[in-house]
Amino acid sequence: MPDRSPLRIDVLTLFPDMFTSVLGASILKRAADDVPDPKDASRTRRAVVEYHLTDIRDYTDDKHGKVDKPPFGGGPGMVIQCQPVWDAVHAAEAADERPATRLLMSPQGEPLTQTLVEELATHPRLLILAGHYEGFDERVVEALQPMREVSVGDYVLSGGELPAMVLIDAVVRLIPGAVGDEASVDHESFSTSADGGLDYPHYTRPRVWREMEVPDVLLSGDHARIDAWRREQAANRTRQRRPDLMNDD
Ligand code: SAM
Repeated sequence: MPDRSPLRIDVLTLFPDMFTSVLGASILKRAADDVPDPKDASRTRRAVVEYHLTDIRDYTDDKHGKVDKPPFGGGPGMVIQCQPVWDAVHAAEAADERPATRLLMSPQGEPLTQTLVEELATHPRLLILAGHYEGFDERVVEALQPMREVSVGDYVLSGGELPAMVLIDAVVRLIPGAVGDEASVDHESFSTSADGGLDYPHYTRPRVWREMEVPDVLLSGDHARIDAWRREQAANRTRQRRPDLMNDD
């Protein structure tokens, strides 16, 4: 496993509590812990990621602890003010000398794809801004450039916390050492190693369930045939379900 310092992920949010259970369970938790090396239990696999949550509200100058105000020009909703966001970002960035790649979760951003996730997993440090209400005052977005805006889809959520968690989950599982069996993140749907197509179907015990049998080829022990069958299944699925992903070269 290549030796690299843990990926540092800072999240700036008004609702840090929303992250507690997601970052504290399953692969995301395991990735942040020192655990026995799955290949050699006498050794320790060091944490491959560290999470740092910042509550934007802690940085407001407002004596009532407010961070949002109504929009200039009228209209519904509230807008998060520049000052607490600017100060929170700079405080978080000063906590570690590694330069952070700034990400702003936004429905108006570039789509979160597996290609983008693979790229982000190679960065030393990510700083994620999660908006709420109507979003951030545009001036702080401009002042914090360069910052990539990232969207999890063409729909609007109440806040950037769930999108941030989606991004974190997708990135962290690709860091070497995060999942017990690294091969399991290879050849997954949309990955570069699967040519950007969909994954093949999977089966496990029992061999027969409700009179439905596992395809014979998977029981043959012939790995070349199994690989060929899986490649064909993956290509068929991609053609049927997502023809836009077909690589016809
Ligand atoms: N007024 C904004 C618009 O229409 O583009 C939507 C604001 S939304 C209610 C509040 C926050 O949720 C955003 O600032 C962003 O951080 C987050 N958010 C909502 N939908 C998102 C999406 N599809 N992808 C990423 N972040 C999203």
